[in-house]
Amino acid sequence: MRRIKFAILTLVWLFACAFGASGALRAFEAGGRSFKLETSTLGSAEYVSLYDLSQAVGGSLTCDEWTRCLELRISGRSFRFMPSSRIVLIDNEDCLNLPNAVTEVKGDALITTAFVSSILPDYLKSSGKKKGSAGSKKLVVLDAGHGGHDTGCRGGGMNEKDIALDVTKRVRDILTEMGYRVIMTRSTDVFLELPSRSDVANRNGADIFVSIHVNDAQNTSASGTETYYLAKPQVDNDYHAKRLDSSSYGYELRKRWNSLTTRMKSVVRQQHYQTTQQKSQLLAEKVQKRLARAAGGDNRGIKGKNFSVLRNSYCPACLVEIGFISNYSDMKKMKTSAHRQKVAQAIAQGIKDYLK
Ligand SMILES: [Zn+2]
Repeated sequence: MRRIKFAILTLVWLFACAFGASGALRAFEAGGRSFKLETSTLGSAEYVSLYDLSQAVGGSLTCDEWTRCLELRISGRSFRFMPSSRIVLIDNEDCLNLPNAVTEVKGDALITTAFVSSILPDYLKSSGKKKGSAGSKKLVVLDAGHGGHDTGCRGGGMNEKDIALDVTKRVRDILTEMGYRVIMTRSTDVFLELPSRSDVANRNGADIFVSIHVNDAQNTSASGTETYYLAKPQVDNDYHAKRLDSSSYGYELRKRWNSLTTRMKSVVRQQHYQTTQQKSQLLAEKVQKRLARAAGGDNRGIKGKNFSVLRNSYCPACLVEIGFISNYSDMKKMKTSAHRQKVAQAIAQGIKDYLK
């Protein structure tokens, strides 16, 4: 009997460990209110009940029984969460990545305290304003193409990876000067796999992602600049599924993909596309407009493409080609630091045009 009791106690203890310890009260402030919420620790992350939060801030919490999406409404703002996902969709417009996924324990939806302590106060502060993600400084992730053993294209004694890195560093300095936060996927001559580049943007909750490259063509008369954005989604559902599956965000979801309802799948896809595709096109337009003027050569415009870094970035993203290494005139210009600075200035200005 004692042995059975001991076994039961051990099971209870193991269960408590698995589902985390709860009970600690933590103070928060958001939307002009101070309140305390009971926290639970799961793994290394701290959570609060979404229902408790809605009560504490005087908001409402609803759940769509078809999609299982949870919507928290406070002061006219809408925050939508999906079970087992780190994504929060704000006012049906902005998307942010939470550090930890929304999780369900004993029928209660739990949300990371990071949402309550840092995201929510910023949004409630800027209540009424449409824009205002994270309130203060926007985060730009810059990606210098290629690196390490991957030299990119070559010409005139130069490697694409070196020109890209130099220009990217210049863009970083100009943006920092303008007051933006900037993270580079690489700041040295190292090789990075393609998915890990967009992961930098996804992990850090970037507002935009810009990849910088140098062009190459068989036809040496091809010159000038062009900017790529994520190609328009097609109606084909398989295409959506494939794209989502190949993204790092999809990877996270894939683990639970089979347990999701068809409706849920389509909601997830729609959110992914609507929030990034149109914005990416606008970003590309703004950057290309400035770049073409500054860099000279042909203005080859903006183009929709399904490049890995564009496809896998959860935020609006574009890929810039600053000139052709295969074109004598472009190559000569790209050798000079004056031209690189001019190009960097134009890219930074285009980013600013988009972000304001
Ligand atoms: Zn390249």
